[in-house]
Amino acid sequence: MSEKQNLVVLGATGSIGLSTLDVVKRNSELFNVFALTAGQNAKKMAELCIEHEPLYAVMANQAAAEQLSAHLNGTSCQTLVMHSVQAMSDLCAHPDVDTVMSAIVGAAGLLPTLSAVEAGKKVLLANKESLVMSGQLFIDKVKKHNATLLPIDSEHNAIFQCLPASLQNAHADQQLEEHGVSKILLTGSGGPFLTRDINTLKNVTVSEAVAHPNWSMGQKISVDSATMMNKGLEFIEAKWLFNCQASDIEVVIHPQSIIHSMVAYHDGSILAQMGNPDMRTPIAHALSYPKRINAGVKALNFAEISDFSFTKPDFARYPNLQLAIDACDAGQGATTTVNAANEVAVAAFLQGKIAFTDIYSINAKTLDSTPVNAVNSLDDILACDKAARLCATQLLAKVSH
Ligand code: NAD
Ligand code: MG
Repeated sequence: MSEKQNLVVLGATGSIGLSTLDVVKRNSELFNVFALTAGQNAKKMAELCIEHEPLYAVMANQAAAEQLSAHLNGTSCQTLVMHSVQAMSDLCAHPDVDTVMSAIVGAAGLLPTLSAVEAGKKVLLANKESLVMSGQLFIDKVKKHNATLLPIDSEHNAIFQCLPASLQNAHADQQLEEHGVSKILLTGSGGPFLTRDINTLKNVTVSEAVAHPNWSMGQKISVDSATMMNKGLEFIEAKWLFNCQASDIEVVIHPQSIIHSMVAYHDGSILAQMGNPDMRTPIAHALSYPKRINAGVKALNFAEISDFSFTKPDFARYPNLQLAIDACDAGQGATTTVNAANEVAVAAFLQGKIAFTDIYSINAKTLDSTPVNAVNSLDDILACDKAARLCATQLLAKVSH
């Protein structure tokens, strides 16, 4: 094994993938790009292969892989091009790999991420959907295979940084209470519709929904931030990452996204992690943990902060947030179901097939109409995900305009 960390970036062409490669480039003495993977964007992948010279590049399907090969043909790039989820999973488990950045969007990230976990790798988790849909199974595998799980989601990374060192790598085995923690304060900006007239939410356009006031992100998470389903998924993510109950977590609206989340202690102390809203900070933190490296992020200038405010979430404005919190209480079947329904509904909204407010209707009705059987094994999880997608897709036809 070389002294540099050998890295696989799942979802390399996305927002998190590109930010990861930016941090890697700034610290090239520490990291070696072993493999890159992406869905369809062969052109961007070709640029990344030429720049980072990974040994392997994996696309989701054969057509995209052929496009990538065509782009690389005639260049000096020696990267071996492959395709399929299996190839992504195999590379995540490759003996030369140290670290896997899990940054595919949605349920498509589950199998490669689990493969990295089962191979005992250092797993940097941006793909929150994989943890939401498999919760206990995911965490059990982390423990069984002695993998290192570090959160990339800015809130969870902030919480992680605010926890005592003894808890940071306890693999969710220890109780927060025993370490003096009284509450996890999960902050969220409220997205672009924090103050919009609630009666006009049904008219929200795609470009309005993806225009997040503070963060630049992929389309799916941007819509999730506008509905606050993102905070709901993060609520479930926090429960699993930090081994706590729903009652230990409180959502706080903080429109400026300066504080990225907080941990409250029994002595009255509240620790917050702050900074400019730039995902390169949590990415750099996790890549080099426990050391600190340059992330290329501008330091926060307190003199420039004009507003610093906090409120409670309004569940009438954000019914998806309540839905996800209730699903968290109800258990794995409900969280797998709501995650799957939401992926179907958000994709339909992005394609102009349903209204913004229909996302909630589809999610709520899918939860109501899917029989929630015991969901434990990977087969149970995949079956539950499939059933929820089918149900949500059938519901789409009823609300499509
Ligand atoms: P994105 O849409 O910008 O990128 C997604 C990546 O996944 C792309 O490389 C795409 O090619 C790949 N991909 C999509 N479908 C695939 C498939 N079926 N098979 C293989 N690869 C596929 O998304 P993003 O904003 O980078 O988000 C990635 C993940 O990180 C999401 O789970 C998101 O919730 C999480 N996250 C993102 C941010 C952010 O700031 N962008 C913050 C926190 C968490
Ligand atoms: Mg987040």
